[in-house]
Amino acid sequence: MNNILVTGGAGFIGSHTCLQLMNEGLNVCIIDSLINSSEKIINQIKLINEKEGIKKGKLFFRHGDLRNNDFINNVFLEFKRKKLPFDSVIHFAGLKAVEESIFNPLGYWEVNIISTINLLITMDKFDCNKLVFSSSATIYDPSKKIKYDEESPKRPINPYGNTKLTIEIFLQDLFLSSQNKWKIINLRYFNPVGAHPSGLIGENPKCTPTNLFPILLKVANGKKKELSIYGNDWPTKDGTCIRDYIHVMDLADAHIAALEFLNKASPQAKAINIGTGKGTSVLEIIKRFNKINSVNLPFKFVNRRKGDSAIVIADNKLALELLNWVPKRNIDDICLDSFKWSKYSL
Ligand code: UDP
Repeated sequence: MNNILVTGGAGFIGSHTCLQLMNEGLNVCIIDSLINSSEKIINQIKLINEKEGIKKGKLFFRHGDLRNNDFINNVFLEFKRKKLPFDSVIHFAGLKAVEESIFNPLGYWEVNIISTINLLITMDKFDCNKLVFSSSATIYDPSKKIKYDEESPKRPINPYGNTKLTIEIFLQDLFLSSQNKWKIINLRYFNPVGAHPSGLIGENPKCTPTNLFPILLKVANGKKKELSIYGNDWPTKDGTCIRDYIHVMDLADAHIAALEFLNKASPQAKAINIGTGKGTSVLEIIKRFNKINSVNLPFKFVNRRKGDSAIVIADNKLALELLNWVPKRNIDDICLDSFKWSKYSL
């Protein structure tokens, strides 16, 4: 594995993954439309790798949209001619805001599905058959369980989740059509948070954030008065919801581990949960954040949010068993690194 194409590589998880790939000495080509990120991130990735990287892979950036078939084809062709053909693809590109997807299903289906189909057609044409797909725990039936393993019932409750599940089904069909060809892993993320410890890259949503950490960071930086906690009457120890928050650097490492696994594996299409296997409540997050950063986040309790579940935790046994990977960062690292990034970016 030498040359990796990363779609959506300028985004939150993509940027951290590109950095770790380069730190492994791999060459990375990012394709990104920049609709939810910025070119500045590309320079930041290079900067961190030059300053801190033990191995120094090359970074290329091609600005464009995966809905444009000619564009993807030309990128594959260009790198083949350069004698840097892509061995594998990590596919992050797509729209990912749950709420927005409810108001704009047409946009979500168009971008997420068409982009993926175009990408896979081109991969097939260029004999590039290794793929790590960025999937999500939102595909699981939220009413069913507390801890989710890969076989847990699937029932997304929003268009975003529907597109992720549909892509997983499509990839399975593709594998079954030619069982000696495709090597595919769908990584199902739980709650990705945190930032690179340098504070130079992190999550920077262009639309109004609805997730806990981007909002909490606004409050911590005085850009928002207080944090509204959605419910204090949930059946948990302190009444607030519990989630499996995973540091984005651990998540990035999981992609490298998945690629390494695929390099040695026989053709297959597999789904693997990526989480810590541990849950933390909203109040516990606030407590740890305050302590480690010496701040005092103002908050108030409001009504429950529609569609929320009390507890969502990953059963990560399969990841620990199959991938040479274990999450190394804890909630304190998450709070420290994300606050550092927010002071730089907000
Ligand atoms: N949450 C909250 N206030 C906010 C945003 C989120 O109390 O302003 C809670 C939310 O109810 C959930 C947890 O924080 O229990 C994580 O929410 P997020 O939207 O980040 O992730 P998801 O709901 O997709 O797990």
